[in-house]
Amino acid sequence: MLADDVQYVKGVGPRRGEALGTHGIRTCGDLLHFFPRRYVDKSTIAGLRDVVPGMDAVTIIGRVLKRNRIRRGRRPYLEIIIEDARGDRLKGVWFNAIDWIFKRLPEGNRVAFYGKLQSARHGQMKSMAHPDFDNLDEDGPSLDTGRILPLYPGGMQLQRVGLKSRRLRRVIYGLFLSRGLELWDNLPPWARQRHNLIDGRVALRAVHLPKSYEELEKARERLKYEELFFFQLAIARYRQHLKKIAGTRFKGPGQLYETFLNRVLPFTLTNGQKNALKAICTDTTGGYRMNRLIQGDVGCGKTVVGVAALLLALDSGYQGAFMAPTEILAEQHYANLRQYLEPLDVRVRLLIGKQRKTVRTRILQEIASGEAQIVVGTHAVIQQDVTFKNLAMAVVDEQHRFGVLQRASLYEKGKSSHVLLMTATPIPRSLALTVYGDLDVTAIRELPSGRRPIKTYLLKENRRASMMDLLRRELAAGNQAYVVYPLVEKSEKVALQDAENGMKHLRNALPEYSIDLIHGRMKQVEKDAVMERFKNRETVLLVATTVIEVGVDAPHATVMVIEHAERFGLAQLHQLRGRVGRGSQQAYCILMASYQRSQVADERLKVLVNTADGFKISEADMKLRGAGDFSGTRQSGLPEFKIADIVEDQALLIAARKDAADLVARDPTLEAPEHARMREYYLEHYRRGEGALFAVG
Ligand code: ADP
Ligand code: MG
Repeated sequence: MLADDVQYVKGVGPRRGEALGTHGIRTCGDLLHFFPRRYVDKSTIAGLRDVVPGMDAVTIIGRVLKRNRIRRGRRPYLEIIIEDARGDRLKGVWFNAIDWIFKRLPEGNRVAFYGKLQSARHGQMKSMAHPDFDNLDEDGPSLDTGRILPLYPGGMQLQRVGLKSRRLRRVIYGLFLSRGLELWDNLPPWARQRHNLIDGRVALRAVHLPKSYEELEKARERLKYEELFFFQLAIARYRQHLKKIAGTRFKGPGQLYETFLNRVLPFTLTNGQKNALKAICTDTTGGYRMNRLIQGDVGCGKTVVGVAALLLALDSGYQGAFMAPTEILAEQHYANLRQYLEPLDVRVRLLIGKQRKTVRTRILQEIASGEAQIVVGTHAVIQQDVTFKNLAMAVVDEQHRFGVLQRASLYEKGKSSHVLLMTATPIPRSLALTVYGDLDVTAIRELPSGRRPIKTYLLKENRRASMMDLLRRELAAGNQAYVVYPLVEKSEKVALQDAENGMKHLRNALPEYSIDLIHGRMKQVEKDAVMERFKNRETVLLVATTVIEVGVDAPHATVMVIEHAERFGLAQLHQLRGRVGRGSQQAYCILMASYQRSQVADERLKVLVNTADGFKISEADMKLRGAGDFSGTRQSGLPEFKIADIVEDQALLIAARKDAADLVARDPTLEAPEHARMREYYLEHYRRGEGALFAVG
C-alpha cells in the first residue's frame, strides 16, 4: 500500500527512512510527493562530430578505449578516452577523485559523458573537463543519461545518509515499478476536464521522470492544481462548518445605530464603510454566526464600522466587546468609544490587567449582569474567564498575525457571538484566499475624502541635512516626529547606526527638544510609559525600533523618518508611514536609504514613494519578494506548499478555490460515487488538519 512505511522501499531502510522522516516523508505515498526542486537537461544525446566547442552541454555515449593516469607536472590527472558509435573519440579529464573514477570506468564499458566541449587547437582530440559520467553497463536502468534529470531538495539529513538526487532517482523509479499500479487519480473528473489537466498518475511519474519539458510543464500544472484544490477544499469545508454555526439573530439597525451614524458622527460614511456595514447587517440578521474580516488601510475608518457593529448588538438587546492587541491600544479605543458613545448613553467599560482588584471585580460583575453594554480590552477578555450576560458581537482589531487555527481558538469562547475582525494590513488577494480563506472578507479601499496624502521622499545619505532641516522646521512649528531604526544594537558585520546612537546624535543636534527612545527589549509597562509621554506631547521626538508599528494615535506627529529603509519590508514601511498624517496637518515620510542597495530594494522603495494604496503596495511587495518571503506570512498561518507557489500560481489558486466551493455546495459530504477516490485521498491527507479545525467552534 502507498501508506506503507517508507523504510521498506527498496534502497531505503531504517536509517534513510528516519532521515526522510525529518523531511516529512513517512510513507511510500509521501515519497512520491517529494518533488524535485529543479531539473537539469541531459536529454540531448549527440554524435561527437556534430558537437563543437561553445555549444550547450551534451551527452556523448561511447566505449571506454583507454585510461591514462598522468603524473607528469605538478598536478596528477586522469584521462579517459571514449569512442562513439561513429568512431569519433572524446577525452574526459579529471583532476579530482582520480582513483575512484578510474575504478568506475573500466576499459570496454559503455558510458555516457555529459558536459561542454572544451575549445581545442586544430587536430587535437575533443575533450571535456570533469564531465558528469554514467556507467551504462552497470546494473539497473540508466536513469542519468539522455533524460531531463530531477534534482531533489538536499538537506543535511539526506546528504548524510547518501540520499542524493542520483540515489533518490533510483529509489523513486523503483517505487513506481513496484507500486505504480496502486496509484489513482485523486481529482474529481469534472475538475480535471474543466482545466484540461493530465491524469494524476501520469503527472506524478512525469514530475520524477519527465520525457520532455512539455510533459513536465503539464505535470507540474496538474500537481499544483491538485495541491491547491485539496487545500482549498479543506478551507471550504471549514467555511461550510462555520457557516452552519448558529448565531444570535439581530433585529437589524435600531435607534442607537441610526442615531450614531446620522447624528453623532460629524461626517458621512465612505462607500467602503457603507458596504462593510451592509454586509454586517446581512450577516447578523440571518441566524448564523458572522465571521467577517474588514481589511483596510490605516485611517480608512474601521473603528467607526466596529462601533456601528457593536450598536447593532445593543439595539437588539445584547452586549458587545471590542478587543485590541495591547493594553495601550485598548485604552485608546476605550477613550475613542466613550467619546463616540457618550451622547448615546451607552455604558462602556474598560477591562485590562493593570486595574486594581476591586475595580476589576466591580467591572466583572457589571459584565455579568449586563450593566456593562460594551467591554473594551485585550484578547484576554474573550479568552479568559470573563462571563458575559449575553455577548453577541466581538470586534477584534488588528488581527493580521493570526492564522486560521489561531482564529479558531479565539472563537471558542465566543460561541454564538458574531465575530468582526479588522486589520490594517492589506494583503494581496491570493494571500487573502489562503490566510483568510475561512472568513468573509470586505475590503475598504478608499480613505475619507479631504485627507492630505503624506508626502514621501526617498533620500540617500548625502541628503541627510535636508532631512534634519525638515525635522527642525516641523518641531519648531510645534509638531512631533518619529525616527525609526531597524535594529537596536549593532550587528557585527554591517556598521549600522543603531537606535541608541541615533538618539545620541539627535540629542546633540536638537538640544532644545525632548527626545525619548522606545525599543522591543523594553518591558511593556516601560513602552506604555514612553508612548504615554509622547501622546501627551511631553516628548516631541520618538526614536524607535519597529515596536511602534501597531501603534498609538498621536495626531500631532507629522514626520516619520525611517533609517535604513531598505532593510524593512514594504508592508512594514507602509504601516510605519500610517503612524503620521492622523491630524489635519501635512505629514511627511522620509525614507533614508544607504548607498549600497540592490536594484530590487530600490524598486521596492519607489513603490512606496509612488503610491499610498496599501493593497497595491502589498501586491508589489509580494511580487518582488516572492510568497515565501512575504512579510508576516509565517505568523499569518500560511501553509507551506510543496509545489504550488501562490504568487506565480494565483490564477490556479483562484480556480481551485472556486472548484472547491462548487464541490462543497453540490456534494457537501463528498459521498457522490465520482468523488469516492478523491474523498479517500482527502480524508487520508487532510483529516488531521480538518479535525483540528472541527474540534472547536
Ligand atoms: P482605522 O482604524 O481604519 O485606521 P480610524 O477608524 O481610526 O481608522 O479613523 C481614522 C480617522 O478618520 C478618525 O479620526 C475618524 O474619526 C475619521 N473618519 C472615519 N471615517 C470617516 C469618514 N467617513 N469621513 C471622515 N472622517 C472619517
Ligand atoms: Mg484602527
